[in-house]
Amino acid sequence: MPLVRYRKVVILGYRSVGKTSLAHQFVEGKFLERYDPTVENTYSKIVTLGKDEFHLHLVDTAGQVLVWGGDEYSILPYSFIIGVHGYVLVYSVTSLHSFQVIESLYQKLHEGHGKTRLPVVLVGNKADLSPNREVQAVEGKKLAESWGATFMESSARENQLTQGIFTKVIQEIARVENSYGQE
Ligand code: GDP
Repeated sequence: MPLVRYRKVVILGYRSVGKTSLAHQFVEGKFLERYDPTVENTYSKIVTLGKDEFHLHLVDTAGQVLVWGGDEYSILPYSFIIGVHGYVLVYSVTSLHSFQVIESLYQKLHEGHGKTRLPVVLVGNKADLSPNREVQAVEGKKLAESWGATFMESSARENQLTQGIFTKVIQEIARVENSYGQE
């Protein structure tokens, strides 16, 4: 019997960047044009990677949970820190502001975890809207590299790209765990 490992992953980012759409595409295999943005949702899915099985528990955070006070989030609930294995941090390539929000959000998470290395996948979403782009891929890549994290651009309209994000975060969690094991 393969061991099923439990992984809790929190999806964070500014409002309307596509957090719910990505979670929905990943779990249901469909793109939603409209969604009630006020609800915080959790999703579960069994993900098989090679011989390993993972019970992925996703927390799709609603915008109002994060209090935006000037330049940074003033409140980051403990539930976003405690018992969380990894993060998918999402911005929209069409919004420079959403990218700036991600930088300070990461700092809060990093502090909340005692500045340990975090399993993070940084996602530049809405890449299908490239003509309206405000953030170049190279900027996202640079930011992720500065954290030692993985970067991907995606579109919640594309199932394959979306699946790749959540596969990647499971791999990142394993990578960070292994790097601690070697210290
Ligand atoms: P959230 O507030 O971050 O959860 O964002 P939503 O998932 O509710 O998405 C906000 C809006 O952007 C909705 O109208 C979605 O249909 C749309 N959207 C989300 N992801 C994408 C994407 O990758 N491409 C395009 N074109 N629209 C998207």
